Amino acid sequence: MPRAAIYAGHSAIQLSLGLREEGIEVAVFGPQDRLRLYSRFPTLKVRLLNYDGPSLLDKLADEGYFMILTGGTVEYLTPRVVEEARIPVFGLRGLVRWEADWRLKIRLLEEAGIPVPRVFRSIEEVDGLVIAKLPGAKGGRGYLVTRNPEEVRGWLDRMVTQGLVAAPDEVFLQEYVVGTTMYAHYFQSPIMDRLELTGFDIRYESNADGLRRLTPRNIGDLKEGFVVTGNLQVYPRERLLEDFIELGEKFVEATRRLIPPGMIGPFCLETVITEDLRPIVFEFSGRIVAGTNVYLGGSPYLALYWGREMTVGRRIALEVKMAEGQGRLGEVLT
Ligand code: AMP
Repeated sequence: MPRAAIYAGHSAIQLSLGLREEGIEVAVFGPQDRLRLYSRFPTLKVRLLNYDGPSLLDKLADEGYFMILTGGTVEYLTPRVVEEARIPVFGLRGLVRWEADWRLKIRLLEEAGIPVPRVFRSIEEVDGLVIAKLPGAKGGRGYLVTRNPEEVRGWLDRMVTQGLVAAPDEVFLQEYVVGTTMYAHYFQSPIMDRLELTGFDIRYESNADGLRRLTPRNIGDLKEGFVVTGNLQVYPRERLLEDFIELGEKFVEATRRLIPPGMIGPFCLETVITEDLRPIVFEFSGRIVAGTNVYLGGSPYLALYWGREMTVGRRIALEVKMAEGQGRLGEVLT
């Protein structure tokens, strides 16, 4: 049985637990100061490894490990390291590049026929509410919402000066859609040739959520902000579930066409539901999202397929075990 390597952070607790439950050995790797947490819980029983550079990934590959793609892998190891590493990856490795570049990201969603917010290709095009985003999975840090193109220009200059953006065209200017956000989680199983809906979350964001506690009298010049501080469970209206499933199917189909062999394992469509009950997809994550941690005790949605609640971490472990048992590991590791 192959062993699993997980970057320290994000969903590492959930993944470690799920893999251990299915008898798969786990190594958690990352900067030394991040590792201590994983030694604090007696049930985790994981090997802890200091990450001092990409050569660790080669060493892990030689020892029979595969790596699970997470937000931490994309943001801290960088897409280039993930693409070039010799270690097998659970998930669609080729999708990392599409997720990291907003042009590719929107192209994939558009080619899938999924409704997306308008994209402003330059500051001059901005003619309504816009959300200006920094590149990468930075957890919402530094974003700006405004109607004023001049404000976007000032923000961009600051981001370049602070070194958060190398070139102006790296920032993503997207129509800000008014509605309620819901993050839909999925699992695409190559072994069962089935798409499973694994749950939903809402990100709890500062100051966007914190400002709601203040009255207009007290808000002054405080600005909304989207730094994720945690995740909340949400149960979307039942009539929306079919829409969500169809969006997931379209996404999987587009990845098959554009990035063969197509989606493997968990992914997330990040949506805003407008007043007319239409989910608009403003982003995707082509791997497990931290929002799945709201089901650390098991997802009731996964129970609809399996007859018992389980985490997405455990679902990944099951897929690996089924693949191993059928001699099909090559279909889930890329
Ligand atoms: P992201 O980094 O793209 O996941 O965005 C961080 C947060 O900004 C989301 O959780 C939403 O609250 C908000 N957001 C991002 N894009 C949009 C959009 N196009 N319309 C409305 N809210 C958005």
